[in-house]
Amino acid sequence: MELTNIETILNDALIHSSKYIDDGNVATYIPELAKADKNLLGASIVTIEGKRYHVGDWHQEFTIQSISKTISLIFALHNLGPEIVFNKVGMEPSGDPFNSIIKLETKKYPSNPYINAGAIAVAGLISERYSFEDYLKLVRLFCGRNSIEVDENVYMSESKTGMLNRSLAYMMNSSGVLEADVEKTLDFYFKMCSVKVNSNDLANYAAILANDGLDLKSGDRLIDNSILKIVKSLMLTCGMYDGSGEFAIRVGMPAKSGVGGGILAFAENKLGICVFGPALDSQGNSIGGYHMLEYLSKELGLHYFSGK
Ligand code: GLU
Repeated sequence: MELTNIETILNDALIHSSKYIDDGNVATYIPELAKADKNLLGASIVTIEGKRYHVGDWHQEFTIQSISKTISLIFALHNLGPEIVFNKVGMEPSGDPFNSIIKLETKKYPSNPYINAGAIAVAGLISERYSFEDYLKLVRLFCGRNSIEVDENVYMSESKTGMLNRSLAYMMNSSGVLEADVEKTLDFYFKMCSVKVNSNDLANYAAILANDGLDLKSGDRLIDNSILKIVKSLMLTCGMYDGSGEFAIRVGMPAKSGVGGGILAFAENKLGICVFGPALDSQGNSIGGYHMLEYLSKELGLHYFSGK
């Protein structure tokens, strides 16, 4: 892939996508996120050869939010194994909003690990046996930056106002899905969502996913093949909330978004991308980011079913 091409296309993608920002809104249900500047928009691309391209507000830090659910899943699968994890959570798209409680009454087990209920169930398994520091080490390794920390203000804000997440956790506790200490589990969950990153950090992690789980510099295996298969497949089917089906058609890359405005995506054996823009569409996906990914997919030939 030619350097000038990517740079030019990335710049064009930013110009093309910024006009959609007005149609979106920042998340307000977490009070601290409501303070974000809705006009920010940026992106980073990291190729599997380790070349980096940036545009717009790529250096701006934001909270990782639901994108963390892919890393906690990797952590749980690696340390506990798929049997324990999928004893608590399913592998199917829920078709409901990310924070929905409705299916917990009829189905008991959360549909997948990328909706809030599923991620809280996984957080319960982890927090029973490991410290948050253990988990944060993995985030730092994937992002290639040791200074990554929790945004204390967002963490406090989520912890104070996250009554729906609390409801999900207590509901699962009463049905036996969540056996760990509920408040300790929620504390872990709120912290993992509040980790502060920039788009370069997440594009680095996305490039590792694209690079078959191998470190970009050393070539060391960071993620087992069997785990990659699960984490990536779930990104395809459940990564963009209840908009995952349309995203698969329009963009065609495994992806995971978060209400902090980040979307991580990758093209297998090519590159990792992170787009960032806090203005969200009605499903909770960054509206400018979504359009950037659609543009990049088309112009760089990244759609998995119609690569250039
Ligand atoms: N911390 C957020 C919540 O629990 C994460 C949601 C998201 O990014 O989808 O509501």
